[in-house]
Amino acid sequence: MWLLRRRLGGNLPPMLRALVLNATYEPLAIVAPRRAVVLVLDRKAEALDGSGNWFHAERMAVEVPSVVRLTRMVAVDRSRELAISRRGVFARDQGRCQYCGDRAETLDHVVPRSRGGTHSWDNVVAACRPCNVGKADRLLPETRLRLTRLPAVPRRLSWVSMAIGTVPDQWRPWLPAAA
Ligand SMILES: [Zn+2]
Repeated sequence: MWLLRRRLGGNLPPMLRALVLNATYEPLAIVAPRRAVVLVLDRKAEALDGSGNWFHAERMAVEVPSVVRLTRMVAVDRSRELAISRRGVFARDQGRCQYCGDRAETLDHVVPRSRGGTHSWDNVVAACRPCNVGKADRLLPETRLRLTRLPAVPRRLSWVSMAIGTVPDQWRPWLPAAA
């Protein structure tokens, strides 16, 4: 049985996660602390930075890494794009309705699904409720709404902030500025 304790006491940060880098230092994934420890103990990864939190096992204590680097390179399928998510769309669109600029509360399919629109980055935008409800199942030319910009797949590395909302300071040195 593993116990997770904090070196200096206090509560664990609720969002505690570890960043996994490829052997090439390219950011690959975000994993639970236990998974990061196992990667290091299995020598599948080296810890690059510690979190200040410790896993205590029967005869040892291991600092939970904040950043690990895989010892062997993992081939990344570059054709596979970032999965679309509500949080991702809101992050890309900065929480603003892409029709009127108000605070967005909903996701809108630019070409409605009932008209053959896909659930994809280039067809889903953040929208305020009035715009979304007003548009309903119509195509844009059938409405007065216009997109402030064309939706697109977000920059490749911004998945990190999209996945967790914020980027811990300890990860910043390992991430491109865009992440
Ligand atoms: Zn709106």
